[in-house]
Amino acid sequence: MGQGIDPAELEAWDDQFVWHPFTPHSVYRSEEPLMIVAGEGNYLIDARGRRYLDGVSSIWCNTFGHRRAEIDAAVTAQLGRIAHATFLGNASAPGVVLAKRLVEITPKSLTRVFYSDNGSTAVEIALKMALQYWQLRGKPGRKRFVGLGNAYNGDTVGAVSVGGIDAFHERFRPLLFDVLRAPSPYAYRCGLCAGHDACIGSCTDALETTLKAHADEIAAVVLEPGFQGAGGIITLPEGYVRRVREVTERLGILLILDEVAVGMGRSGRMFACEREGVEPDFLCIAKGLTGGYLPLAATLATDEVFDAFLGAPEEARTFFHGHTYTGNALGCAAALATLDIFEKDEVIAGLAAKITALRAALRPLAGHPNVGEVRQYGLAAGVELVADRATRASFPAAARIGMKVCHAARDKGVFLRPLGDTVVLMPPLSITGDQLATLGDAVLHGLQTVLP
Ligand SMILES: *Cc1c(COP(=O)(O)O)cnc(C)c1O
Repeated sequence: MGQGIDPAELEAWDDQFVWHPFTPHSVYRSEEPLMIVAGEGNYLIDARGRRYLDGVSSIWCNTFGHRRAEIDAAVTAQLGRIAHATFLGNASAPGVVLAKRLVEITPKSLTRVFYSDNGSTAVEIALKMALQYWQLRGKPGRKRFVGLGNAYNGDTVGAVSVGGIDAFHERFRPLLFDVLRAPSPYAYRCGLCAGHDACIGSCTDALETTLKAHADEIAAVVLEPGFQGAGGIITLPEGYVRRVREVTERLGILLILDEVAVGMGRSGRMFACEREGVEPDFLCIAKGLTGGYLPLAATLATDEVFDAFLGAPEEARTFFHGHTYTGNALGCAAALATLDIFEKDEVIAGLAAKITALRAALRPLAGHPNVGEVRQYGLAAGVELVADRATRASFPAAARIGMKVCHAARDKGVFLRPLGDTVVLMPPLSITGDQLATLGDAVLHGLQTVLP
């Protein structure tokens, strides 16, 4: 199967030659990593021929299952024309057509598409554009960024700077630029609303206070609308993003929305910002953009921003940023096929029923004594496990409880990957009602096995 190579040999080579991302190699092999050799619909197939429901859509990017005929055909057809041609000072057709489509389906403030290859660079580009924008508008003092606690915007240095997950980011502090930090809207572990029974929006107030106090120094606010993904599927309170938009607009601050994870249907709408009627200055999209096929990202910007960069070449207003594979033709062809499926199959209209089915699948989990909180936003969920429900105390990290629960879920033919002790459910949008029930059952089985 795996390129015709024996599974044991593949594993040996993996151990000998590969360095995996976000992976402690001292325990890697003992956690029995999958060796994927094929996919079929919502299933992954490993080198020993075992099938697993892809419960995290291959880390949140697979949209319509694996080997989707229309996307396969679009990439194959594009291969018959050209795989890649440069976008630097030139154009290649699929990228142009895709830009038009993206402008048509995103909020009307967004009129220009700048491509890159992944979510981190999509954010990095928005940061650099925002900084240069203020220089070009004669306000170079607006150079600081505001990010939230528990934010994750990718792994390049700028994206890490605006990120707020200590476990990932603290180590790199000496490399990072200073960011104004607003509290994470993490209701389950929030100290701000102490003394109140429910959230009174103190985190939003704190953000607003920071923005007002530093308005003249701030270039932009960066946030993940809907939910903070890698932070643990931390769902934002309804209305949060709308309020941030109102305040930033009033203070003349740019708003960068990172929809790398939540965009492309995950929220139940094409983009999460639609749910609150918000029009950002920048929109970053990646993961699901190509249906999970190829690395492609886009940073969308407004006319107001784009126009600031216009001028004779010698005025040096040009945006000097670009990647070799910017606007890659195969990636753009996959993205166009993905958008076609959204239209043809009326995918968005069908999501409400799946979101309800996911809610139903999660319901039995809330009864387990080690489930602290179940959070859902659209077709995404996080099940936060705790050692003690009353005190909300976490398990020791060394116990790797989240990983063990996900591993046990494989008994039921489901592949999951946690974020610490939060079990993440992030299935392809093509998941069926029955498969959603299987996901829920598998997590319950994992809980009962690891925490009987
Ligand atoms: C995954 C992710 C990124 C980074 O995208 P990569 O393609 O992994 O670089 C950025 N922002 C959010 C919200 C993400 O979930």
